[in-house]
Amino acid sequence: MSTATDRLGRELGSLRVSVTDRCNMRCRYCMPEDEYQWLPRSSILSFEEITRLAGVFASLGAGKVRLTGGEPLLRHDLARLVGQLSAVEGVRDLALTTNGILLAAQAAGLRAAGLGRVTVSLDTLRPERMKEFARSDHHPEVLAGIRAAVAAGFEAVKVNAVVIRGYNDDEILSLLAFGRQESVEIRFIEYMDVGGATRWTRDEVVSQAEILEVVARRHGRPEPLAARAASPAERFRLPDGTTFGVIASTTAPFCRDCDRSRLTADGTWFLCLYATDGVNLRDALRAGASDEDLAALVRRIWASRADRGAEERLAVPARGVLYQVESLRADPRREMHTRGG
Ligand code: SAM
Repeated sequence: MSTATDRLGRELGSLRVSVTDRCNMRCRYCMPEDEYQWLPRSSILSFEEITRLAGVFASLGAGKVRLTGGEPLLRHDLARLVGQLSAVEGVRDLALTTNGILLAAQAAGLRAAGLGRVTVSLDTLRPERMKEFARSDHHPEVLAGIRAAVAAGFEAVKVNAVVIRGYNDDEILSLLAFGRQESVEIRFIEYMDVGGATRWTRDEVVSQAEILEVVARRHGRPEPLAARAASPAERFRLPDGTTFGVIASTTAPFCRDCDRSRLTADGTWFLCLYATDGVNLRDALRAGASDEDLAALVRRIWASRADRGAEERLAVPARGVLYQVESLRADPRREMHTRGG
């Protein structure tokens, strides 16, 4: 079957699969509230259902699959899902985004099951900051998780750091040094006004230009590296050979190259991180649709896609919070942690 293409000529290339909406951290930029509305358990896709849908998407060109959440390592026996997905025809790149807390114990098993790449989120090297900002005192476990991932021999281990003014913008250079020391590539992420970021303000965004300025002052101007098609990160190299990336989704969005879509843990398919509504694939799946029916549905909907969510946000004059808490409670699929980051 040929690759599905949308109205702006963008091919369906990658699928982010949220395997759970639960998380064991409460990052201020993602889950700052005290209470959340969780997806009903009966609606959560089984591993077999996820694998079938991944096969349908792969048959339309989505050969890259990233498992995310919530915190994906909270999903029991995730390595079994990885094993099933790695056997799907057309899936050629299988990756995981995790906060790393539970990674040390699972890294080798995930690698053995066929996981190719791991990205660990780590915003600070200071345990007390993580405690204050993410309500977690598991900083040592995250570091152990990163080291275990490197030791497990993944094709790549990356570290994502969201840079927030007044929180960790004084750690850009130390995070870079940490990456060099641990042999992992750091990717700085601009703070995004996604659903769930109910405390977002423009002032707290540290732009790609500012990040590069801080790096240049210490190391000299980083050399831009050729971008990989559809990759959200722009990559750079320092004179000493260290490479790093910046994901400038807030100030310099890359919608024109976006080949990603997202499947929530309950089988709702979102064509854009900023989309208000998704498509319920679970009901079609559970009503007995064949793979061909599902592929036809996905192809038809992708063909109608014209989303440019991040670019549209850029054009909002007094840009503020995307959704207020009440709106997130009314539809938890608007949350970043449900949609899958
Ligand atoms: N729990 C996993 C983790 O921490 O990596 C996976 C899910 S998390 C939602 C995925 C990524 O989204 C993390 O790297 C997190 O830092 C990022 N993220 C969440 N909210 C964000 C925001 N408002 N702006 C930028 N990145 C955000």
